[in-house]
Amino acid sequence: MADKKKDIRALTKEQLREFFVAQGDKAFRGNQVYEWLWGKGAHSFEDMTNVSKATREMLENHFVINHIKVDTMQRSSDGTVKNAVQLHDGLVVESVLIPTKSRTTACVSSQVGCSLDCRFCATARLKRMRNLNPDEIYDQVVAIDNESRLYHDRPLSNIVFMGMGEPLMNYNNVLKAIDKITDDEGLGMSPRRITVSTSGVPKMIRKMADDEVKFKLAVSLHSAIDEVRTSIMPFNATFPLADLRSALEYWYSKTKSRITYEYVVWKGINDKRKDVDALVQFCKFAPSKVNLIEYNPIDDGEFQQANSEAIDMYVKVLEANNITVTIRRSRGKDIDAACGQLANKS
Ligand code: SF4
Repeated sequence: MADKKKDIRALTKEQLREFFVAQGDKAFRGNQVYEWLWGKGAHSFEDMTNVSKATREMLENHFVINHIKVDTMQRSSDGTVKNAVQLHDGLVVESVLIPTKSRTTACVSSQVGCSLDCRFCATARLKRMRNLNPDEIYDQVVAIDNESRLYHDRPLSNIVFMGMGEPLMNYNNVLKAIDKITDDEGLGMSPRRITVSTSGVPKMIRKMADDEVKFKLAVSLHSAIDEVRTSIMPFNATFPLADLRSALEYWYSKTKSRITYEYVVWKGINDKRKDVDALVQFCKFAPSKVNLIEYNPIDDGEFQQANSEAIDMYVKVLEANNITVTIRRSRGKDIDAACGQLANKS
């Protein structure tokens, strides 16, 4: 019987208002309940103290509130926090809090596992089980915001969709979650502090541009040479670089928003001058930023971080071509919370 009840947080505010009218109550009651669900993060109908007992019982008979549960929480020596989050059906995803001097960033998951097959990524080894619902994404952010306040005395400042899964393969739910995160009745965060990081799904990048989204876009590029990229990100054979580039040009023409590229330099894979030259050619059509990310081996040593000379070469050539470049040191390595390491090991 309990399974038949609908998750109340799948309803929009308007649908909640209509539900109450259909029950012979006032539409306003929908606003009140919505505020409890999203603004106050109520975990049960019992918590809704300004709603009558009869109404709470009626809600209980129709709906459930499927809150996530932080199953285990690990803290790294560098302040990074990793949550293993249990969903209502028992599946688990991970999310990470990354504190630096100037910001605290939540790295959240959008799918359980991933259907893509990037060879350097631990999540790719987990089968994609399902997409996360908007409320499951939202709850990860709330949990990390609470931990940020508790352990670092400040609220969350940024969010990146860079945890488990390809966010653009769960676009509608990611969009709905971001609506709640940015809504004044939700967390009220600025969309400019949210980055959706994709491995590059051209059709969906065009859709984001058409939808005039206000959040930022990052692309996990890792190589601007088709042959190399396909060897490490096999789906590149389906979405080759020319298609990705054309979608990004479209994105820029519509949004005028700078594009960030996530890029790991691996020994013997993309650490030569021709690799950085191809990167410059690929991204110079629009203002770009390249984040050179330190790699975290996931086990067998097939992928190894390139040496510092190769990184220096990237920095020098990119800067000479007026492309902003930053080197991202990895955080939370000791708890497998670093980039590409999320694999439900805890
Ligand atoms: S890097 Fe991202 S898109 Fe690629 S397999 Fe891992 S989670 Fe999926």
